[in-house]
Amino acid sequence: MATTNILFVNDTKKVRKYCTLGGYPIFYVSDNGNAICPDCVQEDQDLDKEEQELCITGHVVNWEDASLFCDQCNKRIESAYAEDEATS
Ligand SMILES: [Zn+2]
Repeated sequence: MATTNILFVNDTKKVRKYCTLGGYPIFYVSDNGNAICPDCVQEDQDLDKEEQELCITGHVVNWEDASLFCDQCNKRIESAYAEDEATS
């Protein structure tokens, strides 16, 4: 499974949660179009290669979707600009 679409923190195996420029929260997109939070990508990456299930096709900055949820764990995905809306 190709992992080139996953961003890692420098040379570590840590999946990046924020983009390098501006520090905006990112999430990942799998080949079936699901939004996956970085934590789930990390969990999948920590498995042995044969056991990894996610096929990540890209990563996206969540600018202002306050109701975006991870398709894997159902946790809300942090946004760059809609956090006030989400917490109030
Ligand atoms: Zn998740």
